[in-house]
Amino acid sequence: MAGTLIVLGTAQDGGNPQLGSRGRGRPRLVSSVAVVMDDGSTLLADVSPDVKAQVARLSEVEAYQARSARNAVDHITLTHGHMGHYTGLVQFGKEAHNADRIPTWVTPSMAAFLTANEPWRSLVEGGHLDLRSGFGPVLLEPGLSLRLVPVPHRAELTDTVGISINDEVLFVPDIDSWADWPDAQQEVARHRVCLLDASFSSLDEIPGRDLGQIPHPLVSDTIERFGHLAADRRLILTHLNHTNPVAEPDSEAAAVVRSAGFEVAEDLMEIHLDGN
Ligand SMILES: [Zn+2]
Ligand SMILES: [Zn+2]
Repeated sequence: MAGTLIVLGTAQDGGNPQLGSRGRGRPRLVSSVAVVMDDGSTLLADVSPDVKAQVARLSEVEAYQARSARNAVDHITLTHGHMGHYTGLVQFGKEAHNADRIPTWVTPSMAAFLTANEPWRSLVEGGHLDLRSGFGPVLLEPGLSLRLVPVPHRAELTDTVGISINDEVLFVPDIDSWADWPDAQQEVARHRVCLLDASFSSLDEIPGRDLGQIPHPLVSDTIERFGHLAADRRLILTHLNHTNPVAEPDSEAAAVVRSAGFEVAEDLMEIHLDGN
């Protein structure tokens, strides 16, 4: 069965603009994607603080409109335990959506974190989330499979994964460095569509903040490393920090990205998936 990937947000964890800042370019919601299959079954990959607005946007997708399911989404998966990637889960609890046992695919480390700490523990114990831990691959629905791909990223609370959907889409919103991920070339080459961490363009982007404490590949590193793969697949830069000039389509930085054969992710981009 075929489906549609919908890019629900393209900003780093704090959004664009962040609280108390002006941001660059258009406002952007926090990084997240969904897949809506043609029968309406829906996977949400990362549950950002902007989840309410993001799931509301899914109602513009024809296949999603036709669904009659009790839960707002049928499957959830999470990359890691930093605030932009899972804290929207609070909206699934009894004070809000009151979800009924949504299968939630996470690593064992992420499952242990959610089970041990409030308010997430109540979501599990209350039967709102049905935690399923492991790296897969797992078949969620006919034509919709998932594999969690370990990547190096600050592991204060949990480990971090990229998310492979149908071996067709690779979603890696957060990584410390491509060089520290031995499978980087192989995994990017394996997918037709890759959404890749592009938090920063330069190391002096945030005055007064040591970016060595929050390492990410620079956009130029990403272009250098994967540029030779751009002709045969869509390489899309996402998780843009509110300071990153590539967030402004008219900027020189965005022009460099495009001329290298890459794309800058935009909220509400849709990509058709063939399924399997
Ligand atoms: Zn992040
Ligand atoms: Zn992170």
